Amino acid sequence: MEIQFLGAAREVTGSCHLVRCGNHRLLVDCGLIQGAPADEARNRAPFPFNPGEIDAVVLTHAHLDHSGRLPLLVKAGFRGPIYTHRATLDLCRIMLKDAAVLNEKDAEHENRRRLRQGKRLVEPLYSRADAEKAVRQFQPLEYTAERQILPGMRVRLLDAGHILGSAIVELWLEEEGQQRKLVLSGDLGHAGAPILRNPEMVREADLVVLESTYGDREHRSWDATLAEVGEVFHQARRDEGNILIPAFAVGRSQELLYFLKRHRKEWGIDQWTIFLDSPMAIEATEVYAKHWKLFDSETTQRRKKDGDPFSAPNLYFSRTPAQSMAINRVRTGAIVIAGSGMCDGGRIRHHFKHNLWREQCHVIFAGFQASGTLGRKLVDGAKTVKLWDENISVAAQIHTIGGLSAHAGQSGLVDWYRNFDRRPPVALVHGESMPMETLSQQLRAIKAQVLMPKPKERIDLSSLKK
Ligand SMILES: [Zn+2]
Repeated sequence: MEIQFLGAAREVTGSCHLVRCGNHRLLVDCGLIQGAPADEARNRAPFPFNPGEIDAVVLTHAHLDHSGRLPLLVKAGFRGPIYTHRATLDLCRIMLKDAAVLNEKDAEHENRRRLRQGKRLVEPLYSRADAEKAVRQFQPLEYTAERQILPGMRVRLLDAGHILGSAIVELWLEEEGQQRKLVLSGDLGHAGAPILRNPEMVREADLVVLESTYGDREHRSWDATLAEVGEVFHQARRDEGNILIPAFAVGRSQELLYFLKRHRKEWGIDQWTIFLDSPMAIEATEVYAKHWKLFDSETTQRRKKDGDPFSAPNLYFSRTPAQSMAINRVRTGAIVIAGSGMCDGGRIRHHFKHNLWREQCHVIFAGFQASGTLGRKLVDGAKTVKLWDENISVAAQIHTIGGLSAHAGQSGLVDWYRNFDRRPPVALVHGESMPMETLSQQLRAIKAQVLMPKPKERIDLSSLKK
């Protein structure tokens, strides 16, 4: 019995772990590799196993770096069930379809160029039909309900508090009378974040697989973070401009809507018109509202008292391109939440074109900006940026609010691990080298045996001490 690290090993994206037990093979996550074009090209490489020989998949959450290669897996011959939380199934239906549409558009664009050059045409990474087929293989699970998924393998999902439906995976394995328990953190949420509950603690494991995205960073307190956001709204009001917020459709957009409603009075939100300008974010918000039973106690109470936590009289959902373009005529008093989170695509770029060069406007970055992205350039203080072959000068004020992260910071990760009895060995994944090294020092300081598996490395679970 063993686990093999096939993705997000010493990097952040492409999460994928293969568990072998007896004659059975289970994959935990099958995520997309995201980042520079050379990295993304790796998504086209064949899987380092035969997809037809995988018996089942367990999916931790809907983010594409965990779920985004499932349609490829199905296309390559995987026919088994994909176990995940019911809310993740609802989110994946939207996100995998959207990813497929982007793939098809990318291939179309590339092929127009190739036709002119007399080159061979490319196929999209996967199509809408592949995504739909993958979603049909999903089997919903509930939190805390233990389920035998294969002979010798039992699974239980616990709330990870990262995005709706996100799960920590507990896996009980049995082979030839030997038993081992594996716990995979998935992406761990940021304690105190709105809407969702805090990550569940686990006590027993023979091996822990822990994410390490922010292993070298501590988040500011929620109070300090919210005071910072409130100050931007007041300043922008005085400047009589617009506020642009690039945001990921799932998770971040809903948190922002929630905060705007909760801090409506202190931040003077009634004086603004809010636009959620992203069809995917609108659909994801509907999925959040549908799964209100997963909300934390504060959100549940507010929902009872004030109704839907994501609605407001001055909030408009813009679904069509025409509705989105109409926002460009608004010169003052608009809060625009639009995709994409790192600004490399999506409607936010149109709003940048109409607002970035105006000094009375403000941009709020609330999420991680990978190097090489337009978002990162703005955060790093670029004076001009290129949008559709046009140089746009940056006069708007750029604000980076780090404390809104959906991932646990360093102490959140260490505290979660510390809750295990008897300090089981811990394998770090889902992190760049700096955060991983720093986190490993913190964990070793509390006497943990820390492993940092390289891609394709295996850990023999039967050799672990009981
Ligand atoms: Zn995630």
